[in-house]
Amino acid sequence: MTHNTIVSRRHVFKLVGAAGAVGLAGPRVALAEAPAPVGTQVAGYYRFPVGDFEVTVVSDGWLRLEPLSLFSPNAPEDELADVLSGSFLPTDHVIAQMNLTVVNTGDHLVLFDTGIGGARDTGGRLVQNLQAAGIEPGEIDTIVITHGHPDHIGGIVDGDTGDRRFPNAKYAITETEWNFWNDPATLAQAPEGMRPVIEGAARTFDAIGELTDRIAPGTEIVPGVTSMDTSGHTFGHQSLRISSGDEQVVVIGDAIVHGVVTFAHPEWHFGFDMDKEKAIETRRGLMDQLSTDRVPMIGYHLPFPGLGHVASDGGAYRWVPMPYSWEL
Ligand SMILES: [Zn+2]
Repeated sequence: MTHNTIVSRRHVFKLVGAAGAVGLAGPRVALAEAPAPVGTQVAGYYRFPVGDFEVTVVSDGWLRLEPLSLFSPNAPEDELADVLSGSFLPTDHVIAQMNLTVVNTGDHLVLFDTGIGGARDTGGRLVQNLQAAGIEPGEIDTIVITHGHPDHIGGIVDGDTGDRRFPNAKYAITETEWNFWNDPATLAQAPEGMRPVIEGAARTFDAIGELTDRIAPGTEIVPGVTSMDTSGHTFGHQSLRISSGDEQVVVIGDAIVHGVVTFAHPEWHFGFDMDKEKAIETRRGLMDQLSTDRVPMIGYHLPFPGLGHVASDGGAYRWVPMPYSWEL
């Protein structure tokens, strides 16, 4: 007899007693033998308040990036491995989570990015986790796109049916970003490996063209959600400031991508940054601002839920995750 069996039988004994007291009968042995769910996590969402707004971070899953030279092409390989190892992380690959933000402002239900859709089997969990958080795709009225990479726009259209997954949403993206992905010159000048990414983005944007506002940085998209220019990762990359009362959080998209490496070495390139020098300038500026103003951020690719503060740390920075809280 295993320890678990003993515990379960004691537990059942108590339940039997309680059921008997209110005159209920039930499948008592089945309760004892019900297997605990193993090999799976609970639904991936985390909720917290920002002023009068309610923010929910929902996981779409994760991406495994390897080799390290793809993740950070200009980082000295042994130094990068040391930084990862010093944080008890593997030194042959990097895990990039996909944390999607939803804000309920009272008047609007806004989703920021849409995950990778069905393109990777470690992703595509957005809709099931939204539903676990009590949010139906049809209730989302606005989708803000930080940039046009496939792990951010892949969930817009259902790859099997061709239908839009969020039937009542309109979209907001920067005009620069929109123009880049839809300009025939982008495809014409692209290296071979990038062509499917550009063609995929153009197809997705075709499906939402009529529904999309092409905005300038600084635009207030809905009351309390304002676009910030954080270009560099892509040419029209935007972050979003969510503010209500005197509280704020910034959805930073891919301006900062790793919870250890980017903070310790903001000068190391991220392999998918399109304008690598501008990306460094942008993330340094953003981290300076967030640490000085003590404003928290949500990092799309940081360890779930990617919510925390940036601390200034001797010329570089340090990520300080916000403690889990039951209070809303
Ligand atoms: Zn990304």
